[in-house]
Amino acid sequence: LAEVPLRITGLSKRYRGAVDRYAVRDLGFTVEQGQVLGLLGPNGAGKTTTLRMLMGLISPDEGEIRIFGHQVRPGAPVLSRVGAFVEGAGFLPHLTGRANLELYWRATGRPAEDAHLAEALAIADLGEALERAVRTYSQGMRQRLAIAQAMLGLPDLLILDEPTNGLDPPQIREMREVMIRYAAAGRTVIVSSHLLAEVEQSCTHLVVMDRGRLVTAGPVGEIVGAGEQLLVAVAAE
Ligand code: ATP
Repeated sequence: LAEVPLRITGLSKRYRGAVDRYAVRDLGFTVEQGQVLGLLGPNGAGKTTTLRMLMGLISPDEGEIRIFGHQVRPGAPVLSRVGAFVEGAGFLPHLTGRANLELYWRATGRPAEDAHLAEALAIADLGEALERAVRTYSQGMRQRLAIAQAMLGLPDLLILDEPTNGLDPPQIREMREVMIRYAAAGRTVIVSSHLLAEVEQSCTHLVVMDRGRLVTAGPVGEIVGAGEQLLVAVAAE
């Protein structure tokens, strides 16, 4: 039996600042292959902290993260199966989008699999913009290029932290299509958002967080049907 893309148990993270409080507390959920999992919660719910632990960028204080059965630690080999988008990716402005992606891909030291690159670029669907210098890009286009970059090796698990931040409605719709196309081949996507309307239409499953804790988790239809008021209450805070 294939190992599930993600299994989290008893995950906690505390930042030691002025107030010594939990950003994530006793979080547990599982993501199955082919799901588009929306991590939903208001600002400060702990979404970014959770995703950064999944990406191996920070270590949890308690609990365990398994990706395809392997425990995640910073630098763990299984992280080569994970593609990650976080805000603020840097590009060389005078190079084209395509040249930036090729440069990035070579820098990862991974074998050049042209078929993978071509498929990732087809899914990202950047059109003619790919041949233009990045300095001519809108903020939205830069964001989409950064997401294409996260998809380059066709990672089995793609993690996107608020990919629609700063995008306009047509770009948000395109982003939704990109995620659905990405997962269609049996790959798995985890995407965070603070807007129910956004994840409702692109995700198969939801994990709702508030103040570091899990509020509810399950298929989108069940959660939206059963807990609309709860979601509205969480989102309105
Ligand atoms: P947002 O949508 O605003 O990014 P989020 O759901 O991603 O919210 P986190 O960024 O994970 O939430 O933050 C969770 C909590 O941890 C918040 O209370 C935040 O202030 C706190 N926090 C996040 N990063 C740090 C840090 N580096 N040091 C101290 N506290 C932090």
